[in-house]
Amino acid sequence: MSANPKATENYLDRAQRVLPGGSFGNTQAGLIITEGRGSRVRDDAGNELIDYLIGSGPMIVGHGHPEVLAAVQAQLERGMTFFANNPQGIALAEAITRAVPCADQVRFASTGSEADAFAMRLARAYTGREKILKFEGGYHGYSDYGLQSLAPAKPGNSYEPIADSAGIPAAVSESILVAPYNDADAVESLIREHDGEIAAVFMEPVQRLIPPKPGFLADIRRLTADHDILLIFDEVVTGFRMAYGGAQAYYDVTPDVCTLGKAIGGGFAISAVAGRQDIMDCFDRGRAAPDRFVPQVGTLSGNPVGSAAGLATLEILERPGTYDHYHSIGNKLITAITEAIDKNGLQAQVVGVPPMFDIVFVDGDVRNHRDMLRADTTKLSRLNQLLKARGILKGENKNYLCTVLDDADVKLTIDAWQDALGILAGE
Ligand code: PMP
Repeated sequence: MSANPKATENYLDRAQRVLPGGSFGNTQAGLIITEGRGSRVRDDAGNELIDYLIGSGPMIVGHGHPEVLAAVQAQLERGMTFFANNPQGIALAEAITRAVPCADQVRFASTGSEADAFAMRLARAYTGREKILKFEGGYHGYSDYGLQSLAPAKPGNSYEPIADSAGIPAAVSESILVAPYNDADAVESLIREHDGEIAAVFMEPVQRLIPPKPGFLADIRRLTADHDILLIFDEVVTGFRMAYGGAQAYYDVTPDVCTLGKAIGGGFAISAVAGRQDIMDCFDRGRAAPDRFVPQVGTLSGNPVGSAAGLATLEILERPGTYDHYHSIGNKLITAITEAIDKNGLQAQVVGVPPMFDIVFVDGDVRNHRDMLRADTTKLSRLNQLLKARGILKGENKNYLCTVLDDADVKLTIDAWQDALGILAGE
């Protein structure tokens, strides 16, 4: 990377003046990234860091991948956005339908939150029912409906929708049902209790970091199919990440509809709802029954620059061997971190899947949000600090891997984790 010409600029002071909390709301104010190349980023102090934040997921093929850059540059010359259909957006929709099992058709939006909100509305329109069943701890964007029981800090004995933000009308919670993740029996009893009221089970196939127990997704598929309830996978994170066809291909469970974001925009604002033809017909004024039509518009939907970046990203990911290599890097890191945990006698474990995982300072099984609540987050914050001081940037509670991590990156990462965990164990 080039030397940072503004290493002395005080971005933090400036940010604190103009941004609430000094930040965009995503990370702590003090994390200021000035440049990214391949697997690495540079911060405002000029430190080069191996990047396990990767823009919270989109930069799956690394920063500034030459093929993505070339595709974006070529498109920039031809125009940035048209609102109208364009060749790049159409080609991206085609690539999604070829890759993703549930995707007969695709509609674009700009963010994962928007795609999730449209998908919930779509499910209600298609079924004529109002309730959405979600899992405690699952994230489905920032809409009033999405932000229900994402992170209840002190959940009660029962599972219920609790708004995660001020400003959400109380009435919204009445249309949400909440179940513990990895518990198909709980879903079954909610379905029986609310017979004929549930439009969709809306879920992350891998909830945050927590993998589905063997058979869990298949059980939910069977239960939803038996009761004419739509199954919607939020694949904003897992899409084109667990496998080219997403978590639905990886776990071989096909939902009716899914949402996509992050990877499909190659670093630009592109998201999508993708699903079965008869359901997607609700977006088509010409085919939907009048009481089922869902208007779906967005200024930047299908914009050609984001589509070109996404398409180039998917072309790179589709090459033979990509996902084997990607998962093998993840497995190598998970094994090394687990060994370091054991060696240092720490009460901790790695939770996740090879493309995204983290250390969780907790004993016992981690199957759902409540198990995660038992974890020691002070230790995690301290570890994040120790890692950053050793050249490793990760999210507050996630490591996202990119496909261009090389052997040197992996070695430096393992050394840093061993060192940091050793220090933590001694404190
Ligand atoms: N769904 C999931 C599973 C997510 O992880 C996220 C974002 N991290 C979203 C939806 C929302 O996406 P966005 O931030 O693009 O609105």
